[in-house]
Amino acid sequence: MARGDTTDNAAERLHELGAFLRTYPVTGAAGHSYISSAPRSAGSSALPYNPDAEDRIRACMQEIADHTLAVNPDAGPLPEHLAAYYEWMWENTRHAPEQDQFRAEVIEYRQWLENCLAARDHETVRKQVRKQACPECGCWGLMWLPARRRAICTNRKCVDRDGVSTTLSLARLAHAVVTTRKKSRQARAT
Ligand SMILES: [Zn+2]
Repeated sequence: MARGDTTDNAAERLHELGAFLRTYPVTGAAGHSYISSAPRSAGSSALPYNPDAEDRIRACMQEIADHTLAVNPDAGPLPEHLAAYYEWMWENTRHAPEQDQFRAEVIEYRQWLENCLAARDHETVRKQVRKQACPECGCWGLMWLPARRRAICTNRKCVDRDGVSTTLSLARLAHAVVTTRKKSRQARAT
């Protein structure tokens, strides 16, 4: 499925974030997936347990599972491997209405950015922000503000009634990026 390179990148990020799971494996049971809190073995090469990463991963898996099962209640069992979650979502929403596929793409893209930030990789996010036009004014002046975890439009005219610059949350940025992608796919198809 042509979704740029986001699926690979997003899956890789999730996998990296979950590297400590070599000791704390993801286990699936009865259609629910959870991360075992007990170490499988005290392997000497294991990474230290990371509760923040565990919360992050749980939230990602839950969001993917919730969306997929809402769209397709007959979706197959959750994947055994963390890195396969996005592919699983795509496989099981392939015939879903367009807006549901759109939402899946937004979820995947936003999680990718969130997981980059969880790994303190602001550079990848910054590059993505630069490649996107401002959804409000259409100019190419978006900049990433690491401390606020938002993109800001540097066009002086792109402000609200109080003169405050337009800023985008990761969710809004993801929506804008996926909208742009969809338009370019449609343009290529016609
Ligand atoms: Zn703008």
